[in-house]
Amino acid sequence: MSVRLAHGIGDPPADQPVDAVVALGANLGARSETLAAAAAELGRLPLTDDVRVSAPIETVAVTLAGEDVDAPRYLNAVALLRTRLAPATLLRELHRIEADHGRVRREKWGDRTLDLDLIAYGDARIDEQHLTVPHPRAHEREFVLAPWLDIDPDAEIPGRGRVDVLLRAMREDAP
Ligand code: ADP
Ligand code: MG
Repeated sequence: MSVRLAHGIGDPPADQPVDAVVALGANLGARSETLAAAAAELGRLPLTDDVRVSAPIETVAVTLAGEDVDAPRYLNAVALLRTRLAPATLLRELHRIEADHGRVRREKWGDRTLDLDLIAYGDARIDEQHLTVPHPRAHEREFVLAPWLDIDPDAEIPGRGRVDVLLRAMREDAP
């Protein structure tokens, strides 16, 4: 069976639905409207249901040079969804939603109207050129862990451990 998506035929869908975790971030434009629209679009993805989105939190921008208090602040949220879309297909759909919201890829970790990262895909470990899952920096990003924990108290990052434990350790280490 193949599934026609916005940009052609995707990888074969999974036989069973998988719990996927998507991080949303925006620091330009109408941030809260953008996050709400992106969440609604996640809910319209094919082979996908049960989309739950955390409340947004406001955070300081992180750039390649570290935290930048002068950059526009982010709104971040996390969405949980059940999907049969294959991981690469899901990532492509996330990029399409980013592009629909005017995302222009200029510099890594630069300002953006919308960033959608695939944080986890069930317990899958993926290490491909364009897709690493779990997201390699999720475990050290409070702006991912805190909203995720908010909607899933038992959340775990495959290979890293429980999100509540990671978050507590991070906060204890904070200066
Ligand atoms: P960042 O989110 O790190 O600021 P981008 O959104 O510009 O950077 O993404 C850079 C690249 O990261 C994308 O082209 C994508 O292929 C790759 N990538 C690898 N793993 C993931 C993932 N789990 N989620 C999102 N993008 C990923
Ligand atoms: Mg991204």
